[in-house]
Amino acid sequence: MTKDIASPKRTQAILEKHGFRFKKSLGQNFLTDSNILRNIVAGAEVTKESGVIEIGPGIGALTEQSAKEAGSVLAFEIDQRLLPILKETMAPYPHVSIRSQDVLKADLHAEIDAFFTPGQDLAVIANLPYYVTTPILMKLLEEKLPVRVMVMMMQLEVAERIAAVPGSKAYGSLSIAAQYYAEAETLFRVPKTAFVPQPNVDSAILRMTRREKPPVDVPDEAFFFQFVQEAFTQRRKTIGNNISKAWQHRMTKPEAQALLEAEGVAPSRRAESVSMEEFAALSHVFWNTLT
Ligand code: SAM
Repeated sequence: MTKDIASPKRTQAILEKHGFRFKKSLGQNFLTDSNILRNIVAGAEVTKESGVIEIGPGIGALTEQSAKEAGSVLAFEIDQRLLPILKETMAPYPHVSIRSQDVLKADLHAEIDAFFTPGQDLAVIANLPYYVTTPILMKLLEEKLPVRVMVMMMQLEVAERIAAVPGSKAYGSLSIAAQYYAEAETLFRVPKTAFVPQPNVDSAILRMTRREKPPVDVPDEAFFFQFVQEAFTQRRKTIGNNISKAWQHRMTKPEAQALLEAEGVAPSRRAESVSMEEFAALSHVFWNTLT
């Protein structure tokens, strides 16, 4: 029986055969631990009825494990040098389709409509390139793709920021942006030794389950996210200072502070203590005053 692509020996043989050299600039750290890969796929709870979307298949180590569990897999790979390798490694999996494309430039709604059946259960399963984790994640969330769950490997620190709760050091605008669209939880950590080449940072698997509807009501999504970002502009400063500075051309500092107080948020608090519900309420009063 052929060994898994991820086995260190087979990975080495594939890389050597094709004379492949890793590009650090593309975040190429390939996983060589089949157990970890199987656990990532298990986290998405896919069945033969499910479709999987993968970003950055590399030589196909994770793609192979998804292909064993799901009905079909659509993968986006930016590095054209990997295409002939994937053609070979994915040969036993005809239900895998590779797009030679930068996922950030892809029209994902059109790709999903063309490849999967309407209403099919969909999951994103990926070991994300670290240099573009946040842009990729926000694209997947903001475009409101019909995806049930996303299970993704990323830098531990980013996973912690996404899943963070108010009052913790990791809590910030990324936590709120991500948790507005999905429930986030860290499933497990992955040691550096599970990759070739080994990355400099620790990694974790994050599961994001898409919400049917956002947990809070906001007047305007773009304004809400902008307001949250402004509140966190300088983390060590108070929300009163950050917000009044952001809107200094439109209102005086006492006016901005009065709006915060009107929603029960003391201007002396720091944004990291303010919950998503409080931010939503604040975005309403500032929106009503400013528009
Ligand atoms: N899935 C493989 C694994 O787990 O071993 C490889 C993961 S590696 C961390 C990230 C992969 O994403 C690389 O193959 C890289 O070429 C690809 N990649 C980087 N930027 C990308 C982008 N913008 N769009 C699509 N793929 C990208």
